[in-house]
Amino acid sequence: MSETAVQTEWVSAPAMALRASDSAPVGGAKGLARLKAVDRKQLMLRPVDVEQLIEEDHPARAIWAFTGRMDWSRFLASIQAVEGVAGREAWDPRLLASLWIYAYSRGIGSAREVARRCGYDPGFQWLTGLQEVNYHTLADFRVSYQSELDELFAQALGLLSAEGLITLERVMHDGTKIKACAGADSFRREERIRAHLEAARGQVAAMGDPRAEPSARQRAARQRAQRERTQRLEQALEELEKIREVKAGSEAKAQARVSQSDPESRVMKQGDGGFAPSYNAQISTDAAHGLIVGAGVTQCGSDYGELVGSVERVEQSTGQKLKQVVVDGGFTSRESVVAMDEKGIEMIGSMAEHNEQSAGQLQRRGVTEAFYPQAFAYDAQQDVYRCPAGTLLRHDGQEKAAGIVHHLYRAPAATCAACPFKSQCCPQNESKGRRITRAVEAPVVEAFKAKMQTEAAKAIYRLRGAVAEFPNAWLKAKIGLRQFRVRGLEKVSMELLWACLTYNIQQWIRLSWRTQLQAAVV
Ligand code: SF4
Repeated sequence: MSETAVQTEWVSAPAMALRASDSAPVGGAKGLARLKAVDRKQLMLRPVDVEQLIEEDHPARAIWAFTGRMDWSRFLASIQAVEGVAGREAWDPRLLASLWIYAYSRGIGSAREVARRCGYDPGFQWLTGLQEVNYHTLADFRVSYQSELDELFAQALGLLSAEGLITLERVMHDGTKIKACAGADSFRREERIRAHLEAARGQVAAMGDPRAEPSARQRAARQRAQRERTQRLEQALEELEKIREVKAGSEAKAQARVSQSDPESRVMKQGDGGFAPSYNAQISTDAAHGLIVGAGVTQCGSDYGELVGSVERVEQSTGQKLKQVVVDGGFTSRESVVAMDEKGIEMIGSMAEHNEQSAGQLQRRGVTEAFYPQAFAYDAQQDVYRCPAGTLLRHDGQEKAAGIVHHLYRAPAATCAACPFKSQCCPQNESKGRRITRAVEAPVVEAFKAKMQTEAAKAIYRLRGAVAEFPNAWLKAKIGLRQFRVRGLEKVSMELLWACLTYNIQQWIRLSWRTQLQAAVV
């Protein structure tokens, strides 16, 4: 495919010309006006200079230039068509990737729309050299090369790092919910899924009757659709079991439902407070120039346990260690503080104060305010608590968790049973005395909390929103990734990576390519 080839195309008459009725003679003071006639019943052979289709600084050229620096050997390895052997040539993976990156940069996520644009949109036409690409080819390419795409993303980070656009000095991480390609009404309980599965299997078994199908092509398409539906329903039953595993109580397990359209999606709370079948996209952004250095998708609606995996993903993609990571309260736990400390990464975050029992919990247990834990005096020398009635609560064991040890103290059961304040202090304790817990946080957690009280740490934390939330908003607003266009965890992970690759190349165009282009012109 030559980038400088001049090609010809048949075109119809200009769309902006006058309508035929407009060209009829019109009377006036000097007689009938003579107007140009429009002939739409003609074909024109017009030369097209492919290079002139788009300007020098058109983003399609930048995308093509960026992808030209990448190594495509892993994609090429799977191509069957080789030199010297008969058969149709394969599409260049660099071209297909460039088409998707350009499409996403324009908010287009539909393979059919990309194929359509190849017929008339100058940016797409320049990329393809006026060739048309089948939408099946585009759709398959987007979701068929997971490990190759991971490596491609890592390559892009390497190129950006080589230009000094990524430093990993400070990475800001955040999660955002992206709706699945499934409706809220696609959720069903086990009985309905089994009924639908039985019906789908019956339809698959009945297929193949030529009298029922108008053509072989339509028959093949219908058979493929039915097979995919059957597989989705079988997968729905497997996912239902996973959902049940995390549900507490037999009633909740029995009522568990799963989406028939995208069984791997989960109902998650959205930013607007509503609930929808979604995936949780985890995105890490390098603070130096706002480039995305890590992206992944989880089925968990909470960000609580996602930090360690996200950091490891960045380190794997870049081959470098992070120096500092900044996260919001959703990620900041004692576990994550300890884990980051063990990895040698400084963590900036917002941790809620340790609260053993909230006032609400105490009230629900019938404890009055005069007997809240604060009313119990701790004697560090003797390691005992003294209750408002003067009874000593002695050490009664400990419970360890990441970054914290809970020391338990208990009053003698007989003393509490005979105490006149029992109805205000521990009314629900039938057989045991009142218990108080003293939490001792690990030194690393204490140090983290002390650091977060400093102005320097607070100033870094204040930058988090603008850096970490910008890519999330950009992916949704510019790329239109409010909802995935593909189904299943593996495929949505790939779509997210395409979107993040597009985001990074767009930022590279802004930060580097335009400047390089201007310098070359001067
Ligand atoms: S119930 Fe037990 S712990 Fe509570 S005030 Fe009475 S003696 Fe003290």
